[in-house]
Amino acid sequence: MKLLLFGGTFDPPHLGHIHNLEAAIRAVNPDLVVVMPAGIPPHKAAAHTSGEIRLEMCRCFRECFPNLVVSRWELDQEGKSYSIHTLEHLAQEYPKAEIYMAVGSDMLLTFTQWHRWKEILQRATLVCTSRQAGDDPQLIQAARALEGEGGKVILAPASALEVSSTQIRQGKAKPELLPPLVQELVEKYHLYQENFS
Ligand code: ATP
Repeated sequence: MKLLLFGGTFDPPHLGHIHNLEAAIRAVNPDLVVVMPAGIPPHKAAAHTSGEIRLEMCRCFRECFPNLVVSRWELDQEGKSYSIHTLEHLAQEYPKAEIYMAVGSDMLLTFTQWHRWKEILQRATLVCTSRQAGDDPQLIQAARALEGEGGKVILAPASALEVSSTQIRQGKAKPELLPPLVQELVEKYHLYQENFS
């Protein structure tokens, strides 16, 4: 069975994430999708919003695929969330699964800085969606380099939707770039108040 993992801080989830996940689903045709909000992301100081609220917001991804679970596994672990630990956990939980990992182009381009990245390549096929118009040549180059290290990389065809959670938190992106459930929860919990209207 094919398992597609989509991890991130998701503070908050936005339409760029949905766009990424849908492109990866089309490219992989998985049996199961696991969305995994990070506890303490390794490459960021900290998430601004509690894990419980980010977990609740991630329910918006359910509209993307019928067999999709939002996992609290990383949130329940001590310390930083490293993808290799999550992959080891998923391999134990789903021993027969062939694992795919959806990432945006920023993640593919910085992949060799990830903790134990060569082991990640042995455990998962990367499925990358562009975040920035015109970044295809860079992505192809990064994919070839990782393939040279024994990795498998699929570039999921999709035009870039240029939005980030940072822009949303800073009030620099339209609230319409949030899925309706996330818009509701942002209002309910008064998130990103100082910048959000
Ligand atoms: P922040 O602005 O807080 O750094 P972010 O918008 O980059 O957040 P993350 O939660 O860090 O979002 O991203 C989770 C995953 O989704 C990463 O693999 C990232 O590359 C990918 N991603 C984020 N935004 C987009 C987008 N607009 N298009 C495609 N992929 C995206």
